[in-house]
Amino acid sequence: MTRRFALMIDPAASDDVRADFADTFTLVDAAAPALSVGELSTQRGDGVFESIGVVDGHAQEVVPHLERLAHSAALCDLPLPNRAQWHQAIERAAEHCEAGEYVIKLILSRGVEHGPTPTAWATAAPASDFTAVRERGIRVVTLDRGYDLDVAANASWLLLGAKTLSYAVNMAALREAHRRGADDAIFLSRDGFVLEAPTASLILRLDDRFVTPAPNGGILHGTTQLSVYEYLTDRGLAAEYARVPASDLSRADAAWLVSSVRLAAPITAVDGVELPVDHALTADLNRYLLSPRD
Ligand code: PLP
Repeated sequence: MTRRFALMIDPAASDDVRADFADTFTLVDAAAPALSVGELSTQRGDGVFESIGVVDGHAQEVVPHLERLAHSAALCDLPLPNRAQWHQAIERAAEHCEAGEYVIKLILSRGVEHGPTPTAWATAAPASDFTAVRERGIRVVTLDRGYDLDVAANASWLLLGAKTLSYAVNMAALREAHRRGADDAIFLSRDGFVLEAPTASLILRLDDRFVTPAPNGGILHGTTQLSVYEYLTDRGLAAEYARVPASDLSRADAAWLVSSVRLAAPITAVDGVELPVDHALTADLNRYLLSPRD
């Protein structure tokens, strides 16, 4: 069995109801070139993607990931993905994942310049080891995102809320965080509200309630944050969406960055100010996030 896997997908129309999409999949060598030089995903970052965690062969939170892929495609005027086809592609990719943690990526690109259809593919590969980050935690710095919280409502072409392939800004923010001696960053809006991290959602505990920035303010709606909220509300805890002022960061009783592959990383300091870490809850959250979930 190979540890790396790549499958090209011939995108079916969203209303195609056939039971088996096997003939729309082409297995390719994950180490060999597979894309045309005219690909708009590589030329312009014009496309959308998802990263799905896989634990012991089980792809996690598949439904929320497929919902977000469809949402991102709609925001980018890409053809709506066929849910069953992508589901089957994920199943094929998951079959190639061995014990331990893997990541499946789904990519839907605008396609080749002047070409008739989008390009789509799925990959699977071993995940980086986040054990230490989940246990020891991370130091973060706040960085200006450069726009106000309500910009998404007034400028849909910024594609905020879509998980697009244009991650150069997010990667630059991570490099800036490293330059400032931190592990990660939290973006703040110009008008002083907390947004998200370059590759994760933020959850704060303020007294006995949990708070995360509402996903209508130009951020991604994280699938991991949704799972954490399910875990918390099932236990009778208050978990809310809100406008979170930047001043809430330093007064938080605990805080986490959460995302599909890293899972829950406790924040130990924001801009050099130490934060309390709830080690017991962090361990519970990660145990839950590592259990099989759809
Ligand atoms: N926000 C951004 C900008 C991200 O890139 C990600 C994940 O990559 C998230 C939030 C968290 O999303 P998820 O929990 O679905 O991985």
